[in-house]
Amino acid sequence: MKLTFLGTGTSTGVPSIGCECETCTSVDPRDQRLRVSVLIEHGGQTVLVDTSSDFRQQALRHKLKRLDLVLITHCHADHIFGLDDIRPLNFRYGSLGVCANERAWKDIRRIFQYVFEPTYFGGGLPQVVAHTVVAGAPFSIGPDLRVMPLEVIHGRLPVIAYRFNDFAYATDLNEIPPETMDGLRDLDVLVLDCLRFKEHPTHLWVDRALEYIRELKPRRTYLTHIAHDVLHERDSAKLPDGVEFAYDGLVINDEF
Ligand SMILES: [Zn+2]
Ligand SMILES: [Zn+2]
Ligand SMILES: [Zn+2]
Repeated sequence: MKLTFLGTGTSTGVPSIGCECETCTSVDPRDQRLRVSVLIEHGGQTVLVDTSSDFRQQALRHKLKRLDLVLITHCHADHIFGLDDIRPLNFRYGSLGVCANERAWKDIRRIFQYVFEPTYFGGGLPQVVAHTVVAGAPFSIGPDLRVMPLEVIHGRLPVIAYRFNDFAYATDLNEIPPETMDGLRDLDVLVLDCLRFKEHPTHLWVDRALEYIRELKPRRTYLTHIAHDVLHERDSAKLPDGVEFAYDGLVINDEF
């Protein structure tokens, strides 16, 4: 399976507009974070998790040619506002399947009302085939990619984390319910939300993320949805073995 981190930044992106802190002025490319998104390639399938507000830039940067499916974690602007930019793929390949839970679909249909209740017909609109995912109900993408949607809690909002074979992607959460914990065991790679070192009401922070990692024992963990409080080089040294801050453009290409 090949994972490409298209974006690893918190909702504002890093640098944050108007900020002159050490991270926002850093010349280390690992301190420049677009909004979170990951691309998964396995068994001939290419799957995108979240159409971030930076999707167009991410797709161009990584020379994205096509997508087989889009999975949405939840309907917050940083995860969904790039949806309109799937259109060039629609022009080439036709409609694209998009999966989200019922709660997210309610908001997506409202925000993108012009897509789902068009006032005109013809070219120019995203062509979306809507699929509803339910936590705990697995499905497959092609013959080799098994997907298990799992529920995590983001403040008061249930968010979908996705497990793909022995890789799981869990962003935007401050709590993992006990029934989801079992779905996140025996992982080769876990990508986990981790905003910063200081605690936060709707996201994990380093100490809390490490507690979950100690219990779940994935072989490797990459932290994502990172704020400008984290300076990549300096702060990476503070993490234990097997845990790293992800960065934009990081590719994991491995036998899992
Ligand atoms: Zn977010
Ligand atoms: Zn800053
Ligand atoms: Zn969110």
